[in-house]
Amino acid sequence: MKIICDTHVHSSNSFDGESTVREICEAAVEKGISSVTITDHMEAPEIRLGDKSVYGNAIKSIARSVADVEALQSEYEGRVKLLKGMELGEPMHDPKLTQKAYEIADFDFILASVHNLFEEEDFYYLEYNERNVKPLLTRYFDELLDTAKNADFDSLAHLTYPFRYIVERTDIRPDTAEYADVIDEIFLTLARRNKSLEINTSGLFKPINSTLPDLDLIRRFRELGGSMVTVGSDAHNCKDLGAGLEEGIKLARMCGFKSFTVYENRQPKQVAIWY
Ligand SMILES: [Zn+2]
Ligand SMILES: [Zn+2]
Repeated sequence: MKIICDTHVHSSNSFDGESTVREICEAAVEKGISSVTITDHMEAPEIRLGDKSVYGNAIKSIARSVADVEALQSEYEGRVKLLKGMELGEPMHDPKLTQKAYEIADFDFILASVHNLFEEEDFYYLEYNERNVKPLLTRYFDELLDTAKNADFDSLAHLTYPFRYIVERTDIRPDTAEYADVIDEIFLTLARRNKSLEINTSGLFKPINSTLPDLDLIRRFRELGGSMVTVGSDAHNCKDLGAGLEEGIKLARMCGFKSFTVYENRQPKQVAIWY
């Protein structure tokens, strides 16, 4: 039986999200998606600056996100399973403060992300050239390794995130082979800590035209002992909900995974891949 679960979805409780949790539930029913994990943004600067952050006050917005999910879980029971998550940005930039985020609710699932380097802006806002790409990516993978080693999370989100913007805006095509050692160490760390790697399908609809990370890296994760992958669309509106998930699941299968993972109460549950 074909089971599709979207484990990376933003609601309007994220500063950049467009659809309400109810609209997402309706879209999931319509698209035949079995379960949806709402993973609204919780960025380190939001926790630090509160209402003064450009992103808003994440402590409040995550509390709203969780309340919205809890209010609709029973209403949609039997049609779509609704799960409570968050996308924790840069947890290692301030681990002590990040602790506040975990205290908001009993989450089903926590994604860890690096959207910006320490004391830098989101990769979305940076300008790229031949000189700065290599040092930026070196710092990116180092921070990701630190996150993989030390943060409290379930799945590592969209590895190679900056590649998306570099490819979109320049003629530079970063080669992951240049970062093979640190990427291997990230994968070995995830495998050792029994964490998942996310296959983020948003890139399939962008100029980079591949999942984040791509097929070769997913395969490498498997070779190095990785046993669990989560698959997520990173939708910021209900139109994108579930987009590319079948493709992502197929890639997992091609790399030797017989199941993908959905977390409930922060426990991994395996969903058999039907291909
Ligand atoms: Zn993200
Ligand atoms: Zn996201």
